Amino acid sequence: MRNILLVEDEPSIADNIVYALKTEGFTPTWCQTGRDALERLAGETFALVILDVGLPDMNGFDVCRKIRTISNVPVVFVTARKDEIDRVVGLEIGADDYVVKPFTPRELTARIRAILRRSEGSSPTAQPIAAAVFAVDEERCEIRYHGTPLQLSRYEFRLLKVLIQKPGRVYSRERLMELAWEEPDTALDRTVDAHIKTLRAKLRAVRDDEDPIRTHRGLGYSLKE
Ligand code: CA
Repeated sequence: MRNILLVEDEPSIADNIVYALKTEGFTPTWCQTGRDALERLAGETFALVILDVGLPDMNGFDVCRKIRTISNVPVVFVTARKDEIDRVVGLEIGADDYVVKPFTPRELTARIRAILRRSEGSSPTAQPIAAAVFAVDEERCEIRYHGTPLQLSRYEFRLLKVLIQKPGRVYSRERLMELAWEEPDTALDRTVDAHIKTLRAKLRAVRDDEDPIRTHRGLGYSLKE
């Protein structure tokens, strides 16, 4: 994926960056405010975000913190002042790198390529599967996985919904039955296992390189974090 979100309020700087990105084969999307950037990120997927610290509506640090609540997308800060670097580096705001103005477009694209190599280099199974890959639509009783709606039975839907709500938490079979079944007393341990099995097959049909459900021997199941 080559989509890059550029958040920069100065048109002359943005023009240069957009031009450099296109030359390197990237597809840049430019916006001028933090608010616009967050709206874009909520609706689209980007490979990386270039984020100016000094924006007209909010500062880049706050934008980055907000981004981190919804996405693990790499963030590169663009800052006009050297003394801001300490904040970028020192504060744990989840940025991946920074460049200081004035910088050459080549300097920036080199950083971007390095970050993307890093994030693409790690194996798919080693990457954390954020709950963000799932989207639960309560009203339609529908769960989307990587944007694809899953065709789930009632209990598959309920089971997966329980797991998605707390990624990393291990649920025993008994607990899953209590949370997902209407009459848990009549269900059996192996009923949960059977539903997990069909659920996994449906998830694999969408992405065969991922298995987001973990089995904990003797304990139960969890969703990978
Ligand atoms: Ca600015």
